[in-house]
Amino acid sequence: MPHRPNGDEMGDEMADYDLVIRGGTVVTAADTYRADVGIRGNRIAAVGEALDGAQVLDAGGLLVLPGGVDTHCHIEQLRPNGGTDQESFVTGSTSCLAGGTTTVITFAAQFKGHGIRDTLAEYHRRARQAMVDYSFHQIITDPSDAVVWEEIPEVVASGVRSLKVFLTYEPSHLDDRQFLRVLAAARRNGALVTVHCENYEAIRWRTEALMADGRSAPKYHSWSRPKVIEREATHRAIALAELVDQPIQVFHVSCSEVAEEIARAQARGLKVWAETCPQYFVLGAADMDRPGFEGAKFMCSPSPRDKVTSEALWGDISRGTLDIVSSDHSGSSYEGEHGKRIHGNNAPFPDIPNGVPGLASRLPIIFSEGVAGGRIDANTFVRLIATNPAKLFGLYPRKGTIAPGSDADLVLWDPARRETITNALMQHVIDYTPYEGMVVTGWPVATVKDGRVAMRDGKVQAEPGTGRFLARGPYPMIQPRGVLPDGFDAAKFA
Ligand SMILES: [Zn+2]
Repeated sequence: MPHRPNGDEMGDEMADYDLVIRGGTVVTAADTYRADVGIRGNRIAAVGEALDGAQVLDAGGLLVLPGGVDTHCHIEQLRPNGGTDQESFVTGSTSCLAGGTTTVITFAAQFKGHGIRDTLAEYHRRARQAMVDYSFHQIITDPSDAVVWEEIPEVVASGVRSLKVFLTYEPSHLDDRQFLRVLAAARRNGALVTVHCENYEAIRWRTEALMADGRSAPKYHSWSRPKVIEREATHRAIALAELVDQPIQVFHVSCSEVAEEIARAQARGLKVWAETCPQYFVLGAADMDRPGFEGAKFMCSPSPRDKVTSEALWGDISRGTLDIVSSDHSGSSYEGEHGKRIHGNNAPFPDIPNGVPGLASRLPIIFSEGVAGGRIDANTFVRLIATNPAKLFGLYPRKGTIAPGSDADLVLWDPARRETITNALMQHVIDYTPYEGMVVTGWPVATVKDGRVAMRDGKVQAEPGTGRFLARGPYPMIQPRGVLPDGFDAAKFA
């Protein structure tokens, strides 16, 4: 007679659960233990012993993890001159499920001189094809009065509870005053602000000098933006956020020099969080110096650095300064009309599309380097790739853990499996992966999304339209601290 949790009264001839994941080792942010997971409909109903399901998935020898939550990835983003990113919500979802990710937060971008309401509606329309659950960050590039006082309140109230700003890039960057206006709007409406921290003018100045000296090859991308450029902008973002009393998350931290600024802010009690990405652990500036034009495949911002810098980032993970690893998946193929080679093999680096793909490689690289590499335990891995992103963005405990009531999004993970990363395994639309040929230990063998097996042995079996929009309501973590420099709350007025 199987043990029946919660005094379930159902007869023996009927299974208690629609699906049982049997015999695996459940890993959450806090615990590692042998248990079955019982699922009813699209929710986890029980975690216990000897559960009985209409369908049973054998997880013997495997880890059972919460589905990955990727809170920074660019999918089907609209382009200012028409068209979108190559990666659609269907291909992007396929790649996510192949790599063990079941929830994403992508971006709705404002075009300068336009509002945000109408474009957000267009993103909603496109995302209806998704096969993973999704939410949006609203990018603000033009904080006009109408956007700041009329549209941001509406957009945040509709469940888009994070605003994203760039302190660099033409034409997206905000100057300090514009950034302050976005921080204040977020503060008034209860949203988190995420920030791309690099100094716009310093990069422009360096780039101009590099061009004047004839240094235009892909490798000079990293010369245009040394660590200090990222560190300065991070310090400034934190200081301005402190002035407004507005919580922020620093995106894609590439090095400990930047993490140090964040650690100092955290030690002072500021609500400042930060993420990093797989590329900062396993790629380096030297990759951009590969023969021919190959280096373009590794260009992203901030720039990947070097091995010593990558190793030091694990210390920032262990100390908790960096508590999320996202992909920053940002797909430009190598070939084709949006590709890295669009301006030819001699294109100067500022004309080469920026960004690297990484939806499916995020979990395998971090598990392999982190857990298999002996640098973190499996619980920390789960915190980095699922629990912390769900918490920071208001999705916990619906996402990011394995507990009764949570959505039945799970990954069956083989911790011993060695796999060589190839672009075919990534199952994205991009025609390359910067990790081609990298051997990793640990691989997702099945992904369960909403209680249904959505990937098994690399075969994705999900229908477009099964992903759901996750409207995010207010939550305590991102409330301001109530500490203002002199008690005057400028955010009420400007
Ligand atoms: Zn990004």
